[in-house]
Amino acid sequence: MATVLDDLSGFEFEAVMVDVFRHQGYRDVRQAVRTADEGRDVTMIDDSGPGEPVGVVVECKHTDAVGRPVVQKLHSAVTTYDYDGPCRGVVATTGRFTAPAQEYAKRVSDAPDDIDIDLLDGRRLREIGEEIGMDLYSGRIEVLCEETLPPPTDVETVTAERDAAAATVENLSSSELPVPDATLAFSPTLLVDTAVDATFETSVGVIHSVSDRERLAISADRDGPALLRSDAARLIDAGIDRAVPIPDGDEAVDERFAAVEFGRFGRTESEYVDWVVDRQRDRYERTVTYTGDNNVTYERTCTPTKSDVRVTGVEPVFLPQATTTTRLGEYEYGHAFVTNGDERLTVADEFGTCVHCDRGSDAGGGRADVTITHCDNCGSLNCADHVREERLVGEPVCTGCSTTGEFFLATKHFYDEANREAFAGEYAAMPVYRKPLENPKLVAGVAVGVLILLVVLFGAV
Ligand SMILES: [Zn+2]
Ligand SMILES: [Zn+2]
Repeated sequence: MATVLDDLSGFEFEAVMVDVFRHQGYRDVRQAVRTADEGRDVTMIDDSGPGEPVGVVVECKHTDAVGRPVVQKLHSAVTTYDYDGPCRGVVATTGRFTAPAQEYAKRVSDAPDDIDIDLLDGRRLREIGEEIGMDLYSGRIEVLCEETLPPPTDVETVTAERDAAAATVENLSSSELPVPDATLAFSPTLLVDTAVDATFETSVGVIHSVSDRERLAISADRDGPALLRSDAARLIDAGIDRAVPIPDGDEAVDERFAAVEFGRFGRTESEYVDWVVDRQRDRYERTVTYTGDNNVTYERTCTPTKSDVRVTGVEPVFLPQATTTTRLGEYEYGHAFVTNGDERLTVADEFGTCVHCDRGSDAGGGRADVTITHCDNCGSLNCADHVREERLVGEPVCTGCSTTGEFFLATKHFYDEANREAFAGEYAAMPVYRKPLENPKLVAGVAVGVLILLVVLFGAV
């Protein structure tokens, strides 16, 4: 039976904590009688160590977030605690501790002459619950993420990546590329370590067993948890050790970025953990066949139980994504990459796609190997089927914007009416033998026809 910590009153929560501490082996665990709140909810004695028994004062906070003042108050409560021997303090909460609260506890604990203060958050309580065989569940643990993979620091870096993508386009020189609009977005993600250990037995013995460790990378924005693409997951895993504090304040990010956005974790940590457990139960489900004592073959579906799947680590981190929008003529082209500070992974690239037919983009949002040509007339990017040679100037023009005209039964493409008129003038002035060259296919076809005719005629003779 799971104890849903969220459903308890503050006093009931203390009672559960008393139970937890007793299970952990503390002695003389007492829930303080409520008089004036002196910040001393539970007291107990820790005699597990080699030295003198330690007096422990516990403050229980049944709230979403515990700030520094609560830890400070506990600190002074321990300092004034009437106990004949060494003392330490514990703050237990169903939620989480703010960064200043954690810093305060660490500073006090690190000071050689001061007491130790342990902080038990909702996540740690769940772990302790597992260790002592109590299922403590808290839905209140918000994901607290203070780190990001290193983002690109300046607009030049981002623009250079756009330039590299645009360089694959035929007929588009880098000097034609305007400075793009660049934005930076930080997407919430989680690296979750899982352990699955399950054994399936029948009367004939073990029919199936699983023992596996897996690290999952999930996107954790408001759209709900989802597994990240394997290449993005690998990028995060490779960069997690380089994570840096999230940029604080406007001056921390290049001000030339048009926008800087932080995504929000859409669920509580417990919900992500539950999602991962369910996902792993499905992933490791197997249907096995085995032969019973009676020589009959049976089939059984082996699904790990919830307790067969353990989440051994949850590490939240923001994944930076840089997006550029480049205006060429009447069109805008997006390009985006995510980065771990070292490697970059392109996640959107419209420089590889024909604007008329979408050829060039593959199903995964990547680029298929298609030659893309820029139309200087309208700014479009085109596959081979949607681009022609402009007859007057000899440059590529797309079928979307070209003006056409018929010359020697062949369709010719022009930037505009004026160019077509100009070419019509040139055509009219051409010597008669030059005009058929406007339709080489027709000329070749006629030549082959004549040849066949000659062969047939000579054959007849
Ligand atoms: Zn096309
Ligand atoms: Zn065009």
